[in-house]
Amino acid sequence: MRASWVEAVLIASGAIVGWYATQRWRTSSTPAPRPPSRDYLAGVNFLVNEQPDRAVEAFLRAVAVDQDTVETQFALGALFRRRGEVDRAIRVHQNLIARETLDPSFREQASYALAQDYLRAGLYDRAEKLLLQLAEGGTYRIASLKDLTAIYEIERDWDRAIAIHRDLARIGGTEQPAAIAHYYCELAELARGKGDFALAEEHLRTARGEQRRFPRAALLQADVAVDTGRPELAIRLLKRVPLLSPQLAGEVLLRLVRALTAAGRDGELPGIIADVAGDGRDVADALAHAAIVANELDSAALLGLARDYVGHEPAVAEIVGALVPEEHGLDDAALRRLCAALRRQVLRTARFRCGECGFSSSGFFWQCPGCKRWDSLKPLTPSDLAGRPAAARGR
Ligand SMILES: [Zn+2]
Repeated sequence: MRASWVEAVLIASGAIVGWYATQRWRTSSTPAPRPPSRDYLAGVNFLVNEQPDRAVEAFLRAVAVDQDTVETQFALGALFRRRGEVDRAIRVHQNLIARETLDPSFREQASYALAQDYLRAGLYDRAEKLLLQLAEGGTYRIASLKDLTAIYEIERDWDRAIAIHRDLARIGGTEQPAAIAHYYCELAELARGKGDFALAEEHLRTARGEQRRFPRAALLQADVAVDTGRPELAIRLLKRVPLLSPQLAGEVLLRLVRALTAAGRDGELPGIIADVAGDGRDVADALAHAAIVANELDSAALLGLARDYVGHEPAVAEIVGALVPEEHGLDDAALRRLCAALRRQVLRTARFRCGECGFSSSGFFWQCPGCKRWDSLKPLTPSDLAGRPAAARGR
Protein backbone atom coordinates (compact mmCIF):
# COMPACT_ATOMS: atom_id res chain seq x y z
CA MET A 1 0.00 0.00 0.00
CA ARG A 2 2.88 2.37 0.84
CA ALA A 3 4.45 1.87 -2.63
CA SER A 4 1.06 2.45 -4.30
CA TRP A 5 0.62 5.65 -2.34
CA VAL A 6 4.03 6.90 -3.40
CA GLU A 7 3.28 6.06 -7.03
CA ALA A 8 -0.07 7.83 -6.86
CA VAL A 9 1.75 10.92 -5.52
CA LEU A 10 4.21 10.72 -8.42
CA ILE A 11 1.40 10.44 -10.97
CA ALA A 12 -0.38 13.44 -9.48
CA SER A 13 2.74 15.56 -9.14
CA GLY A 14 3.78 14.67 -12.70
CA ALA A 15 0.46 15.91 -14.02
CA ILE A 16 0.51 19.11 -11.95
CA VAL A 17 4.16 19.92 -12.71
CA GLY A 18 3.52 19.22 -16.39
CA TRP A 19 0.64 21.66 -16.43
CA TYR A 20 2.59 24.42 -14.70
CA ALA A 21 5.58 23.83 -16.97
CA THR A 22 3.46 24.36 -20.05
CA GLN A 23 2.10 27.54 -18.42
CA ARG A 24 5.62 28.80 -17.75
CA TRP A 25 6.93 28.31 -21.29
CA ARG A 26 3.73 29.17 -23.08
CA THR A 27 4.06 32.00 -25.58
CA SER A 28 1.24 34.24 -26.60
CA SER A 29 0.96 32.43 -29.97
CA THR A 30 0.32 28.94 -28.51
CA PRO A 31 -3.11 27.98 -27.23
CA ALA A 32 -3.44 27.78 -23.46
CA PRO A 33 -3.50 24.18 -22.14
CA ARG A 34 -6.45 23.31 -20.00
CA PRO A 35 -5.87 23.47 -16.24
CA PRO A 36 -5.96 20.19 -14.26
CA SER A 37 -9.50 18.81 -14.15
CA ARG A 38 -11.70 18.72 -11.06
CA ASP A 39 -11.04 14.98 -10.80
CA TYR A 40 -7.29 15.61 -10.73
CA LEU A 41 -7.68 18.13 -7.97
CA ALA A 42 -9.98 15.74 -6.11
CA GLY A 43 -7.30 13.04 -6.52
CA VAL A 44 -4.66 15.33 -5.06
CA ASN A 45 -7.00 16.12 -2.18
CA PHE A 46 -7.45 12.41 -1.45
CA LEU A 47 -3.68 11.96 -1.52
CA VAL A 48 -3.18 14.76 0.96
CA ASN A 49 -5.69 13.01 3.20
CA GLU A 50 -3.87 9.66 2.77
CA GLN A 51 -6.67 7.94 0.87
CA PRO A 52 -4.68 6.41 -2.01
CA ASP A 53 -7.49 4.13 -3.27
CA ARG A 54 -9.93 7.02 -3.69
CA ALA A 55 -7.11 9.10 -5.19
CA VAL A 56 -6.49 6.44 -7.86
CA GLU A 57 -10.24 6.32 -8.62
CA ALA A 58 -10.27 10.09 -9.10
CA PHE A 59 -7.21 10.03 -11.38
CA LEU A 60 -8.83 7.25 -13.42
CA ARG A 61 -11.95 9.40 -13.92
CA ALA A 62 -9.74 12.32 -14.88
CA VAL A 63 -7.87 10.41 -17.61
CA ALA A 64 -11.11 8.92 -18.93
CA VAL A 65 -12.36 12.45 -19.63
CA ASP A 66 -9.11 14.07 -20.71
CA GLN A 67 -7.78 12.51 -23.91
CA ASP A 68 -4.39 14.27 -23.68
CA THR A 69 -3.12 12.30 -20.73
CA VAL A 70 -1.27 9.44 -22.41
CA GLU A 71 1.68 9.38 -20.01
CA THR A 72 -0.64 9.51 -17.01
CA GLN A 73 -2.59 6.54 -18.39
CA PHE A 74 0.64 4.57 -18.77
CA ALA A 75 1.53 5.39 -15.17
CA LEU A 76 -1.93 4.34 -13.96
CA GLY A 77 -1.82 1.12 -16.02
CA ALA A 78 1.56 0.20 -14.52
CA LEU A 79 0.27 1.06 -11.04
CA PHE A 80 -2.79 -1.19 -11.47
CA ARG A 81 -0.61 -4.06 -12.69
CA ARG A 82 1.73 -3.73 -9.72
CA ARG A 83 -1.26 -3.67 -7.34
CA GLY A 84 -2.45 -6.93 -8.91
CA GLU A 85 -5.50 -5.24 -10.53
CA VAL A 86 -4.64 -6.68 -13.91
CA ASP A 87 -8.15 -6.34 -15.37
CA ARG A 88 -8.02 -2.57 -14.91
CA ALA A 89 -4.46 -2.39 -16.30
CA ILE A 90 -5.63 -4.31 -19.38
CA ARG A 91 -8.57 -1.91 -19.86
CA VAL A 92 -6.33 1.17 -19.59
CA HIS A 93 -3.86 -0.19 -22.18
CA GLN A 94 -6.55 -1.52 -24.53
CA ASN A 95 -8.24 1.90 -24.48
CA LEU A 96 -4.94 3.53 -25.41
CA ILE A 97 -4.37 1.13 -28.33
CA ALA A 98 -7.95 1.70 -29.55
CA ARG A 99 -7.28 5.42 -30.06
CA GLU A 100 -6.95 5.96 -33.79
CA THR A 101 -4.87 9.12 -33.43
CA LEU A 102 -2.32 7.62 -31.04
CA ASP A 103 1.31 8.31 -31.93
CA PRO A 104 3.01 5.08 -33.26
CA SER A 105 5.65 5.13 -30.50
CA PHE A 106 2.91 5.31 -27.84
CA ARG A 107 1.03 2.51 -29.62
CA GLU A 108 4.17 0.33 -29.42
CA GLN A 109 4.58 1.21 -25.74
CA ALA A 110 0.92 0.41 -25.05
CA SER A 111 1.22 -2.95 -26.86
CA TYR A 112 4.24 -3.88 -24.75
CA ALA A 113 2.47 -2.77 -21.55
CA LEU A 114 -0.58 -4.85 -22.52
CA ALA A 115 1.69 -7.86 -23.12
CA GLN A 116 3.05 -7.37 -19.57
CA ASP A 117 -0.53 -7.34 -18.25
CA TYR A 118 -1.29 -10.60 -20.05
CA LEU A 119 1.93 -12.16 -18.69
CA ARG A 120 0.99 -11.09 -15.17
CA ALA A 121 -2.49 -12.58 -15.66
CA GLY A 122 -1.02 -15.86 -16.98
CA LEU A 123 -2.66 -15.31 -20.40
CA TYR A 124 0.45 -16.52 -22.22
CA ASP A 125 -1.13 -17.08 -25.65
CA ARG A 126 -2.31 -13.46 -25.82
CA ALA A 127 1.02 -12.16 -24.52
CA GLU A 128 2.89 -14.31 -27.05
CA LYS A 129 0.88 -12.91 -29.97
CA LEU A 130 1.71 -9.30 -29.04
CA LEU A 131 5.34 -10.06 -28.20
CA LEU A 132 5.95 -11.85 -31.52
CA GLN A 133 4.86 -8.66 -33.33
CA LEU A 134 7.00 -6.43 -31.08
CA ALA A 135 10.01 -8.77 -31.50
CA GLU A 136 10.13 -8.07 -35.24
CA GLY A 137 11.84 -4.74 -34.56
CA GLY A 138 11.62 -1.45 -32.73
CA THR A 139 12.16 -0.24 -29.20
CA TYR A 140 10.85 -3.36 -27.43
CA ARG A 141 12.56 -5.97 -29.61
CA ILE A 142 15.06 -7.31 -27.05
CA ALA A 143 12.65 -7.03 -24.12
CA SER A 144 9.98 -8.90 -26.13
CA LEU A 145 12.40 -11.68 -27.09
CA LYS A 146 13.35 -12.08 -23.41
CA ASP A 147 9.67 -12.27 -22.40
CA LEU A 148 9.03 -14.83 -25.17
CA THR A 149 11.93 -16.90 -23.81
CA ALA A 150 10.28 -16.85 -20.37
CA ILE A 151 6.94 -17.98 -21.87
CA TYR A 152 8.49 -20.89 -23.79
CA GLU A 153 10.48 -21.96 -20.71
CA ILE A 154 7.29 -22.01 -18.62
CA GLU A 155 5.49 -23.97 -21.36
CA ARG A 156 8.55 -26.23 -21.78
CA ASP A 157 8.45 -25.53 -25.50
CA TRP A 158 12.18 -26.06 -25.97
CA ASP A 159 12.26 -25.86 -29.78
CA ARG A 160 10.73 -22.37 -29.71
CA ALA A 161 12.95 -21.36 -26.77
CA ILE A 162 15.99 -22.37 -28.85
CA ALA A 163 14.82 -20.34 -31.88
CA ILE A 164 14.23 -17.22 -29.75
CA HIS A 165 17.57 -17.67 -27.94
CA ARG A 166 19.32 -17.71 -31.33
CA ASP A 167 17.50 -14.49 -32.36
CA LEU A 168 18.55 -12.86 -29.07
CA ALA A 169 22.16 -14.03 -29.44
CA ARG A 170 22.31 -12.57 -32.97
CA ILE A 171 21.48 -9.09 -31.67
CA GLY A 172 23.59 -9.41 -28.50
CA GLY A 173 20.70 -9.61 -26.05
CA THR A 174 21.40 -12.89 -24.22
CA GLU A 175 22.08 -12.63 -20.50
CA GLN A 176 22.38 -16.39 -19.96
CA PRO A 177 24.47 -17.93 -22.75
CA ALA A 178 24.24 -21.38 -21.13
CA ALA A 179 20.43 -21.42 -21.39
CA ILE A 180 20.46 -22.85 -24.92
CA ALA A 181 22.63 -25.80 -23.80
CA HIS A 182 20.06 -26.48 -21.07
CA TYR A 183 17.26 -26.43 -23.69
CA TYR A 184 19.09 -29.14 -25.66
CA CYS A 185 19.58 -31.12 -22.42
CA GLU A 186 15.83 -30.84 -21.78
CA LEU A 187 15.20 -32.24 -25.27
CA ALA A 188 17.74 -35.01 -24.57
CA GLU A 189 15.93 -35.92 -21.33
CA LEU A 190 12.62 -36.12 -23.21
CA ALA A 191 14.21 -38.37 -25.88
CA ARG A 192 15.81 -40.57 -23.20
CA GLY A 193 12.43 -40.86 -21.47
CA LYS A 194 11.00 -42.22 -24.73
CA GLY A 195 13.90 -44.66 -25.12
CA ASP A 196 15.26 -42.81 -28.18
CA PHE A 197 18.91 -42.85 -27.06
CA ALA A 198 20.32 -41.91 -30.47
CA LEU A 199 18.26 -38.71 -30.53
CA ALA A 200 19.19 -38.02 -26.89
CA GLU A 201 22.89 -38.28 -27.79
CA GLU A 202 22.42 -36.01 -30.80
CA HIS A 203 20.87 -33.32 -28.57
CA LEU A 204 23.71 -33.75 -26.06
CA ARG A 205 26.30 -33.30 -28.81
CA THR A 206 24.57 -30.05 -29.81
CA ALA A 207 24.46 -28.94 -26.15
CA ARG A 208 28.22 -29.49 -25.85
CA GLY A 209 28.71 -27.62 -29.14
CA GLU A 210 26.83 -24.65 -27.66
CA GLN A 211 28.61 -24.73 -24.31
CA ARG A 212 31.95 -26.43 -23.82
CA ARG A 213 32.67 -28.18 -20.49
CA PHE A 214 28.95 -28.29 -19.72
CA PRO A 215 28.39 -30.49 -16.62
CA ARG A 216 24.69 -31.21 -17.21
CA ALA A 217 25.43 -32.68 -20.66
CA ALA A 218 28.15 -34.91 -19.14
CA LEU A 219 25.76 -36.17 -16.43
CA LEU A 220 23.06 -36.94 -18.99
CA GLN A 221 25.54 -38.55 -21.36
CA ALA A 222 26.63 -40.78 -18.45
CA ASP A 223 22.97 -41.77 -17.86
CA VAL A 224 22.53 -42.67 -21.53
CA ALA A 225 25.85 -44.57 -21.49
CA VAL A 226 24.68 -46.74 -18.56
CA ASP A 227 21.25 -47.20 -20.22
CA THR A 228 22.96 -48.47 -23.38
CA GLY A 229 25.45 -50.80 -21.67
CA ARG A 230 28.52 -48.52 -21.76
CA PRO A 231 29.31 -47.99 -18.04
CA GLU A 232 33.03 -47.40 -18.75
CA LEU A 233 32.17 -44.26 -20.72
CA ALA A 234 29.84 -43.18 -17.88
CA ILE A 235 32.63 -43.56 -15.30
CA ARG A 236 35.04 -41.46 -17.41
CA LEU A 237 32.44 -38.70 -17.81
CA LEU A 238 31.37 -38.69 -14.15
CA LYS A 239 34.94 -38.36 -12.89
CA ARG A 240 35.19 -35.01 -14.70
CA VAL A 241 31.96 -33.41 -13.42
CA PRO A 242 32.91 -32.51 -9.80
CA LEU A 243 36.06 -30.84 -11.12
CA LEU A 244 33.94 -28.64 -13.42
CA SER A 245 31.31 -27.97 -10.77
CA PRO A 246 31.85 -29.15 -7.14
CA GLN A 247 28.26 -28.30 -6.19
CA LEU A 248 27.10 -31.13 -8.47
CA ALA A 249 28.90 -33.76 -6.35
CA GLY A 250 25.51 -34.97 -5.11
CA GLU A 251 24.35 -35.52 -8.69
CA VAL A 252 27.56 -37.43 -9.47
CA LEU A 253 27.91 -39.72 -6.49
CA LEU A 254 24.90 -42.03 -6.90
CA ARG A 255 25.43 -42.19 -10.68
CA LEU A 256 29.06 -43.18 -10.09
CA VAL A 257 28.08 -45.99 -7.71
CA ARG A 258 25.50 -47.21 -10.30
CA ALA A 259 28.01 -47.10 -13.19
CA LEU A 260 30.74 -48.90 -11.19
CA THR A 261 28.24 -51.62 -10.22
CA ALA A 262 27.17 -51.96 -13.88
CA ALA A 263 30.83 -52.28 -14.90
CA GLY A 264 31.54 -54.82 -12.11
CA ARG A 265 34.12 -52.42 -10.66
CA ASP A 266 32.54 -51.64 -7.26
CA GLY A 267 35.90 -52.10 -5.54
CA GLU A 268 37.37 -49.13 -7.40
CA LEU A 269 35.14 -46.52 -5.74
CA PRO A 270 37.75 -45.54 -3.08
CA GLY A 271 40.45 -44.98 -5.71
CA ILE A 272 38.18 -42.95 -7.95
CA ILE A 273 36.89 -40.87 -5.01
CA ALA A 274 40.47 -40.15 -3.94
CA ASP A 275 41.36 -39.18 -7.53
CA VAL A 276 38.37 -36.89 -7.93
CA ALA A 277 38.67 -35.30 -4.48
CA GLY A 278 42.35 -34.57 -5.21
CA ASP A 279 44.07 -31.97 -3.07
CA GLY A 280 41.35 -29.32 -3.13
CA ARG A 281 38.99 -29.08 -0.20
CA ASP A 282 36.00 -27.86 -2.28
CA VAL A 283 35.49 -31.11 -4.20
CA ALA A 284 36.28 -33.31 -1.16
CA ASP A 285 33.77 -31.39 1.00
CA ALA A 286 31.12 -31.49 -1.71
CA LEU A 287 31.54 -35.26 -2.11
CA ALA A 288 31.49 -35.80 1.68
CA HIS A 289 28.34 -33.71 2.07
CA ALA A 290 26.66 -35.56 -0.81
CA ALA A 291 27.66 -38.93 0.69
CA ILE A 292 26.22 -37.97 4.10
CA VAL A 293 22.93 -36.74 2.59
CA ALA A 294 22.62 -39.82 0.33
CA ASN A 295 23.64 -42.15 3.21
CA GLU A 296 26.44 -43.59 1.03
CA LEU A 297 29.06 -44.21 3.70
CA ASP A 298 29.79 -47.90 3.13
CA SER A 299 33.08 -47.25 1.37
CA ALA A 300 36.07 -46.43 3.57
CA ALA A 301 36.99 -43.65 1.13
CA LEU A 302 33.69 -41.83 1.62
CA LEU A 303 33.71 -42.41 5.38
CA GLY A 304 37.22 -40.92 5.44
CA LEU A 305 36.02 -37.85 3.52
CA ALA A 306 33.09 -37.53 5.95
CA ARG A 307 35.51 -37.70 8.94
CA ASP A 308 37.62 -34.91 7.47
CA TYR A 309 34.48 -32.89 6.66
CA VAL A 310 32.94 -32.98 10.16
CA GLY A 311 36.39 -32.15 11.55
CA HIS A 312 36.51 -28.72 9.90
CA GLU A 313 32.90 -27.83 8.96
CA PRO A 314 32.43 -24.96 11.45
CA ALA A 315 28.84 -25.65 12.57
CA VAL A 316 29.66 -29.34 13.23
CA ALA A 317 33.30 -29.22 14.32
CA GLU A 318 32.51 -26.94 17.27
CA ILE A 319 29.94 -29.40 18.66
CA VAL A 320 32.21 -32.41 18.04
CA GLY A 321 35.11 -30.58 19.73
CA ALA A 322 32.95 -29.82 22.79
CA LEU A 323 31.96 -33.48 23.20
CA VAL A 324 35.02 -35.46 22.14
CA PRO A 325 38.58 -34.73 23.34
CA GLU A 326 40.73 -33.94 20.31
CA GLU A 327 43.32 -36.65 21.11
CA HIS A 328 40.60 -39.37 21.03
CA GLY A 329 38.79 -38.33 17.85
CA LEU A 330 35.51 -39.90 16.67
CA ASP A 331 35.41 -43.69 16.31
CA ASP A 332 33.64 -45.10 13.23
CA ALA A 333 30.39 -45.88 15.06
CA ALA A 334 30.16 -42.37 16.54
CA LEU A 335 31.01 -40.85 13.14
CA ARG A 336 28.19 -42.82 11.50
CA ARG A 337 25.73 -41.70 14.21
CA LEU A 338 26.81 -38.08 13.72
CA CYS A 339 26.41 -38.38 9.93
CA ALA A 340 22.94 -39.89 10.36
CA ALA A 341 21.95 -36.97 12.62
CA LEU A 342 23.34 -34.46 10.07
CA ARG A 343 21.47 -36.22 7.29
CA ARG A 344 18.17 -35.97 9.23
CA GLN A 345 18.85 -32.29 9.93
CA VAL A 346 19.57 -31.53 6.25
CA LEU A 347 16.52 -33.47 5.02
CA ARG A 348 14.23 -31.62 7.44
CA THR A 349 15.08 -28.26 5.91
CA ALA A 350 15.71 -26.85 2.46
CA ARG A 351 18.71 -28.53 0.84
CA PHE A 352 19.39 -26.03 -1.95
CA ARG A 353 19.40 -22.26 -2.21
CA CYS A 354 19.56 -19.94 -5.22
CA GLY A 355 22.65 -17.72 -5.16
CA GLU A 356 20.74 -15.03 -7.11
CA CYS A 357 17.37 -14.65 -5.37
CA GLY A 358 17.60 -16.76 -2.20
CA PHE A 359 14.85 -19.20 -3.27
CA SER A 360 15.34 -22.44 -1.33
CA SER A 361 14.00 -25.91 -1.96
CA SER A 362 14.34 -29.51 -0.86
CA GLY A 363 14.83 -30.70 -4.47
CA PHE A 364 17.42 -29.74 -7.05
CA PHE A 365 16.47 -27.63 -10.09
CA TRP A 366 18.69 -26.67 -13.02
CA GLN A 367 16.63 -23.48 -13.36
CA CYS A 368 15.65 -21.53 -10.25
CA PRO A 369 11.83 -21.55 -9.99
CA GLY A 370 12.05 -18.14 -8.28
CA CYS A 371 14.21 -15.96 -10.53
CA LYS A 372 14.48 -18.29 -13.58
CA ARG A 373 18.30 -18.21 -13.58
CA TRP A 374 19.99 -21.37 -14.81
CA ASP A 375 22.65 -23.12 -12.66
CA SER A 376 22.03 -20.86 -9.65
CA LEU A 377 20.97 -23.47 -7.04
CA LYS A 378 23.71 -24.60 -4.66
CA PRO A 379 23.54 -27.27 -1.91
CA LEU A 380 23.27 -25.87 1.62
CA THR A 381 25.94 -26.97 4.10
CA PRO A 382 25.31 -27.32 7.87
CA SER A 383 27.00 -23.90 8.26
CA ASP A 384 24.56 -22.36 5.76
CA LEU A 385 21.69 -23.90 7.71
CA ALA A 386 23.11 -22.54 10.98
CA GLY A 387 23.54 -19.11 9.35
CA ARG A 388 27.33 -19.16 9.77
CA PRO A 389 30.08 -18.39 7.29
CA ALA A 390 31.76 -21.52 5.88
CA ALA A 391 35.40 -22.24 6.75
CA ALA A 392 38.10 -20.60 4.68
CA ARG A 393 38.57 -22.56 1.48
CA GLY A 394 41.72 -24.41 0.46
CA ARG A 395 44.16 -26.49 2.44
ZN1 LIG B 1 16.67 -17.67 -7.98
